[in-house]
Amino acid sequence: MAVAAVALLAGCAPRAGAGDDDRPVVLTTFTVLADIARQVAGDHLHVESITKPGAEIHGYQPTPGDVRKAARADLIVDNGLDLELWFDRFLADADAPHVVASAGVEPIAITGDAYAGRPNPHAWMSPANVQAYAATLADAFAGLDPAHADDFQANAQQYQRQLQQVDDDLARRLAAVPESQRVLVTCEGAFTYLARDAGLTEQYLWPVNAENQATPQQVAAVVDHVRDNDVPAVFCESTVSDKPMRQVVEATGAEFGGTLYVDSLSGPDGPVPTYLDLIRYDTDTIADALTGARE
Ligand SMILES: [Zn+2]
Repeated sequence: MAVAAVALLAGCAPRAGAGDDDRPVVLTTFTVLADIARQVAGDHLHVESITKPGAEIHGYQPTPGDVRKAARADLIVDNGLDLELWFDRFLADADAPHVVASAGVEPIAITGDAYAGRPNPHAWMSPANVQAYAATLADAFAGLDPAHADDFQANAQQYQRQLQQVDDDLARRLAAVPESQRVLVTCEGAFTYLARDAGLTEQYLWPVNAENQATPQQVAAVVDHVRDNDVPAVFCESTVSDKPMRQVVEATGAEFGGTLYVDSLSGPDGPVPTYLDLIRYDTDTIADALTGARE
């Protein structure tokens, strides 16, 4: 028995898990990334998210508890592309290695406003991009836990097949939206990658959640766009107030098409407990509202 226990210990990668869980700890910045990481890690790694479901991710303020978690982590994963504006300072306090999940993605630049020219951080809103996330994570996890490298590759490949399926469904579903109604109007400019994949044009109140509040000029510009293009429905996201978009609805008579998920998953009992659910849910919500399927 003692011999078996020693052999088991010797065969393990570095351990920093909480309580009885002695698997290596992977700390991610937000819930979407945690789910993607879990799909690749399987049962071999303990994956956690710093921020909770529903949290605002761009301007998050790490707590002392987050800093303690980072000190225990064996690997820290961020999205990159300037998503986590708080991350550099946070990382300075941790000595775990760190991997940028979006490393294999071709960024799209933000146009207009104060953020013009900077990369749009929401690369995960394209399932094709998340295939690259999965490959990057499989490599990083192999470095952390070489004994399970083959499993990480196999998990990533299986997940990539599911992502391709969701991507195909998204393209087919949104191709059904008539040409004149192919405009996606949201609060944050977070749908650039999805809009590109689906062949939709994109309009939004603000480019990146920072102030979380639309200026009267931003509301007026979207009101004009909705009127000029006869846009049937507009949307807002789960992590911000939809008040300014309700103003657009009131001023134009467009429908409020629903709440979309981007920067956070829901809790386990909500509509989007996983990333694949998030893409399916957003696709259905957009397609239904723009084609008037719910009327
Ligand atoms: Zn965002």
